[in-house]
Amino acid sequence: MSDPILSVSGLTAHYGDFQALFGVDLALEPGEVVAIIGANGAGKTTLMRAITGIARISAGRVRLDGRDITCTAAPDILMAGIAMVPEGRRLFPSLSVEENLLIGAHARRTAGHWNLESVYRLFPALRERRDHPGTALSGGQQQMVAIGRALMSNPRVLLCDELSLGLAPVVIREIYAAFPEIRAGGASIVVIEQDVGQALKVADYVHCMMEGRITLSGRPGELSRDAIHDAYFGAT
Ligand code: ATP
Repeated sequence: MSDPILSVSGLTAHYGDFQALFGVDLALEPGEVVAIIGANGAGKTTLMRAITGIARISAGRVRLDGRDITCTAAPDILMAGIAMVPEGRRLFPSLSVEENLLIGAHARRTAGHWNLESVYRLFPALRERRDHPGTALSGGQQQMVAIGRALMSNPRVLLCDELSLGLAPVVIREIYAAFPEIRAGGASIVVIEQDVGQALKVADYVHCMMEGRITLSGRPGELSRDAIHDAYFGAT
């Protein structure tokens, strides 16, 4: 097995006195898609926010390509090669689709696969709407802009928070159909997904979280329905 691109060990995070993560371990191999599933409040978003320097880490380590990046400031994490597609897309409402995409290019470390042309090839609907304000798009198209904006930095690691939230099944399929090209473009992917079936379909490896801990990990084919149920809701 190759060395992980991203490795998280013993990650612990608090909001004030409230402990949201309890020693989380995770490894992402080059070219891999890892899915994180779990109910509302399980700590999935906090894990991503801790990796990207937004939530404060109280213990544990984050390494990118073996380099310790624990507690690095968020803009430096982006420059180091970890880009995030946040829950809710967070487009800049007064900017056009193309301007939103170009914002992602400010964090570009090196020339790479991703530029306006390759993002428009990935999501042709965005080329047609390049001059429209991002917020005038459908939810699925807004999600494409958010993904494209993150790709414009040519990340090594793409962290996606709830890509499918509020989208119709046909649109969700369209979004996930982009994953093979995103991998081919050089990014490994961590995706938070509430839809367990979807996670099992797209991921090479799945972690289930509950109350700030990883309660189950494995390849999709290794995880039984019962084990996932218990890890998701707690054994009854
Ligand atoms: P969701 O799917 O609802 O986003 P999640 O698994 O991503 O859930 P988190 O958002 O990481 O969960 O939340 C983990 C815990 O931390 C929850 O109990 C939540 O209430 C708490 N929490 C999250 N953000 C904050 C915050 N800014 N201040 C205080 N507590 C927070």
